[in-house]
Amino acid sequence: MQYDVVVLGAGAAGMMCAFEAGKRGRRVLLLEHGERVGRKILISGGGRCNFTNVRTKAENFLSENPHFAKSALARFTPRDFIALVEKHRIKYHEKTLGQLFCDDSAKQIVAMLERECAEASVDTRCGVTVRSVRRAQASDASPGAPDASQARFVVETSAGNFACASVVVAAGGLSIPAMGATGFGYDLAREFGHTIVEPRAGLVPLVFSVADREHWCDLAGVAFEVVARAQATVEAAAKARGKAPVFREALLVTHRGVSGPAVLQVSSYWRPGGEVSFDMVPGVEVFQPLLARASGRDWSSAYAALRTVLPTRMAERWVRLRANENPGDWTNAGIARLESELHAWTLRPDGSEGFAKAEVTVGGVDTRELDARTMESQRVAGLYFIGEVVDVTGWLGGYNFQWAWASAAAAGAAA
Ligand SMILES: Cc1cc2nc3c(=O)[nH]c(=O)nc-3n(C[C@H](O)[C@H](O)[C@H](O)COP(=O)(O)OP(=O)(O)OC[C@H]3O[C@@H](n4cnc5c(N)ncnc54)[C@H](O)[C@@H]3O)c2cc1C
Repeated sequence: MQYDVVVLGAGAAGMMCAFEAGKRGRRVLLLEHGERVGRKILISGGGRCNFTNVRTKAENFLSENPHFAKSALARFTPRDFIALVEKHRIKYHEKTLGQLFCDDSAKQIVAMLERECAEASVDTRCGVTVRSVRRAQASDASPGAPDASQARFVVETSAGNFACASVVVAAGGLSIPAMGATGFGYDLAREFGHTIVEPRAGLVPLVFSVADREHWCDLAGVAFEVVARAQATVEAAAKARGKAPVFREALLVTHRGVSGPAVLQVSSYWRPGGEVSFDMVPGVEVFQPLLARASGRDWSSAYAALRTVLPTRMAERWVRLRANENPGDWTNAGIARLESELHAWTLRPDGSEGFAKAEVTVGGVDTRELDARTMESQRVAGLYFIGEVVDVTGWLGGYNFQWAWASAAAAGAAA
């Protein structure tokens, strides 16, 4: 069978790319090994799909090459995706921090992408596993097949072989193997000579050390707003070329560690051996009332002040863990030290919950070997990589889908 473009993986990026190429009159085959398309979209955003973020900037992404995403993000913006959503009369709202969600269901986004694919005559096939891709040889050309001489690749699948001029790899990363994640895209990239920036779990809960587990785990369910920051190892910080950003969002204590949006955000920057730190009471001088007077400087006053700004159980535990200390006889300096501990709760996690629980994979196909305007390989003409398989990873908040749409639109216009 002969196609112009074969797209591997029918997630967000693959579907978008398929219909963009189809609209240009390309004959497109979209292959998916799951039983249906867009499975991650269906579970995203708590079932309502946080499909973009109106504040998207290149700074909201991690990559070894921070400039790479700029071109695609500038040419397919959140506005462009919103126009598509509005064309399909899908109702949406801004939840917080520029995050747009469907009013009703993520199913609407999948249905929209399916309709666009059908209108662009994309041949979509589910339940087909792509086994390998190889360069076409003269012996692959079947006499009389249209454009047979232009076939550059043969895609070998569980449903037969397909010859094509362009292959777009949209096979995603390693996160949530239960949803079809395989690492296939990385293997394929390596076979064609590409470098892979080591994949690791991102947007993932962190696991306490043994000592911290004893101190905090029975508080599972307690949540409060923090300013979170990852203090990567010196080596990782040098690699990241710059300071990791800070996030003011909620932290949730779990049975095994910490989670919640603030923790997920810093987890993408965290490296094994590194620390994370949380300002537990951002913008508040909690112990100011103690400093203002000479008497009543004791743990019960400290607890009274603390429980006005932290959940009672957290305030109580924080005090109890220090109750044997006498902070410098409650001098101003001693109280100031307590205050600074509150603004820098520092943990050295034992690890993360891993790919089974990670929303994204950080790392992937090295962008230094891709064309930033088209996503085409600089090593192999006609081979493209888009979406999560590429070493571009967004923050929590709709940025990962915006990267999927933008990189897909770039490749769909060129493949
Ligand atoms: C629980 C959860 C919630 C999320 N919520 C949000 C959110 O609200 N907003 C946001 O921006 N991001 C969210 N994300 C991240 C977002 O889902 C991903 O970044 C995005 O789906 C990546 O799209 P993709 O098309 O590159 O990859 P995927 O969606 O992973 O698609 C890749 C496809 O390729 C298929 N495939 C793999 N190997 C093969 C093979 N050998 N043959 C054939 N097919 C193959 C897979 O089955 C899969 O369908 C969430 C992620 C998770 C896990």
